[in-house]
Amino acid sequence: MPARILDGNLIGEAIQAELAGHIAELKSHGIVPGLAAVLVGDNPASQIYVRNKIAACEKLGLMSERLTPEASITTDELVALIEELNRRDEVDGILVQLPLPPQVDAKRVLMAVDPAKDVDGFHPINVGHLVAQRPGLVPCTPAGVIEILRRSQVPIEGASAAVLGRSDIVGKPVALLLMHAHATVTICHSRTRNLPGVVRQADIVVAAMGRPAMVTPEYVRPGATVIDVGINRLTDAAQVEQIFSHFPERIEEFRARGSILVGDVHPDVRMVAGAITPVPGGVGPLTIAMLMSNTVKAARLRRLKRATASVSP
Ligand code: NDP
Repeated sequence: MPARILDGNLIGEAIQAELAGHIAELKSHGIVPGLAAVLVGDNPASQIYVRNKIAACEKLGLMSERLTPEASITTDELVALIEELNRRDEVDGILVQLPLPPQVDAKRVLMAVDPAKDVDGFHPINVGHLVAQRPGLVPCTPAGVIEILRRSQVPIEGASAAVLGRSDIVGKPVALLLMHAHATVTICHSRTRNLPGVVRQADIVVAAMGRPAMVTPEYVRPGATVIDVGINRLTDAAQVEQIFSHFPERIEEFRARGSILVGDVHPDVRMVAGAITPVPGGVGPLTIAMLMSNTVKAARLRRLKRATASVSP
């Protein structure tokens, strides 16, 4: 039986609808949550991501601002820009779209973001909060992975989970969140021996490697839940025809557009898995929903607390 498709668009919309109440409460105190997105240079994928994030803010009635410094910007200049955003009270969330140009020290830039406005959850203070299970801002994509599992009633407690990828942005925080939700977690990476054999033990598979369609059916235990974080754009016709050989409609889509998105999970895994997220329309919409959620949370923690403290006796 083909896998249940876990629809990220529906789950993301539900989360955004739930935020409406918090946003109305903030507005009743004269607070409009605000997000500043810093987009350096002209990377086409980054431009699309930032456009989608700004559109989500507009739809929810949040204030948003796009800053677009030249690709030649120095680390010092970018840090100065971030510090200016840190000082501006109406900015609740600061997002620095990655990747940054090679001359920029990305770690220094991310360290410059005020942890209270760090809606991507990349600052070491927030990383520490996550590790220690203290309240803080949690990275959006990993938080979205957990929301998909929870809202799809996939049991996490006691389950065995394999996370493919150990980046600071996705793999590591996903693994921590799954462990905190009481899964038994195996973190896999490029040096893992017998990767298919290791992943086949898992009830939950989270693929975040940036390797198109690498997770084939032989990696997946029948009935397992597969969360595909990877986003890879393919332009090679032979590769597309091979990967999507059982999905003629996707080959048609490729022919019409000249490129197509595929995750890290092979489309044939649908025939083995119990449940699976599609690409596009799986984890991607959750990343945006959790960014909105973090921006509202940052506004509540920083400004609503202050506003309500000033009116209470
Ligand atoms: P990175 O390149 O930072 O990390 C990739 C990880 O995968 C590394 O830990 C690497 O191992 C591991 N890896 C690479 N190749 C293999 C392999 N052949 N076998 C086993 N492990 C391997 O990527 P990110 O974490 O930033 O992103 C991962 C994917 O998720 C990308 O496709 C990205 O586009 C997507 N993404 C999607 C988002 C969304 O909103 N849906 C948001 C963010 C990312 P090692 O450490 O040993 O090198």
